[in-house]
Amino acid sequence: MTKSRVTVIKVGGAVVEEPDKLEQLLEGFSAVPGLPASRSARQINNGEHVVLVHGGGRSATRIASLMGIESRMVDGRRITDEPMLDVVTMVYGGLVNKRIVAKLQARGVNALGVTGADLDLIRSHKRPVGSVDYGWVGDVERADGKALSDLIYKGIVPVVAPLTHDGRGHLLNTNADTMAAQVAEALAPFFDVTLTFAFEKAGVLLDADDDTSVIPRLSHEEYLTLKEKGVIAGGMIPKLDNAFEAISKGVGRVVITSASDLSGQGGTTLE
Ligand code: ADP
Repeated sequence: MTKSRVTVIKVGGAVVEEPDKLEQLLEGFSAVPGLPASRSARQINNGEHVVLVHGGGRSATRIASLMGIESRMVDGRRITDEPMLDVVTMVYGGLVNKRIVAKLQARGVNALGVTGADLDLIRSHKRPVGSVDYGWVGDVERADGKALSDLIYKGIVPVVAPLTHDGRGHLLNTNADTMAAQVAEALAPFFDVTLTFAFEKAGVLLDADDDTSVIPRLSHEEYLTLKEKGVIAGGMIPKLDNAFEAISKGVGRVVITSASDLSGQGGTTLE
């Protein structure tokens, strides 16, 4: 029996936080007139079903600063002490998540906002202290693909905030790219899964400042060569590491594309 299709879409920080970009992204979800709400998310990448995973770092930095809390980053990763954990819990689990849910509901998409703690969906453990103490940051242990499938089969679009829990009462700040990859892997036994990273640029680029230089298809070997040459750098490296691991664990394909081109054929495909 052929599996139904699901697309796990990770939306980058800047996209969910700038109203215009968020509107553009959600346009891809917008219901065809007359289509029942539970079917409206089907347009994305011809997928039958959708799961959304979002970031929110810029909002966390802004709200923390309003509260007099300084943001400290190491290699683009947030140091999450107790006060910062409070901020990211409020901002990711509340402000950013619920804004997306409300906007999807306004478009007839039956969105449900969750963190990894809700329904015990995604469990992690606190990252051990190595050369850097990241504080309350989680490394994912497992995502519950069955529980997510049950929601998806009910026509619900889960909207996942980048927070997990350790099963002992602690919430943990967790990288949204990693969560998206783990969710995609956990759904692979149940669905034909596409993992889409939607961000500001048009795809993986040969020149990071030139949106016309998209690499349409990228193999793991080509990725390693381009990384070695410094063509692929910064935040794109953990994203692609997560992406290739997801493929090795049963995810059908990974697409890295512009948030404004979700239903199009552009971007970079990894297989
Ligand atoms: P997100 O917007 O999903 O949070 P990140 O900021 O973590 O994503 O990573 C994406 C960033 O990686 C891009 O905005 C870009 O600045 C950088 N980057 C580095 N090399 C490349 C490349 N070859 N193609 C595209 N982006 C690249």
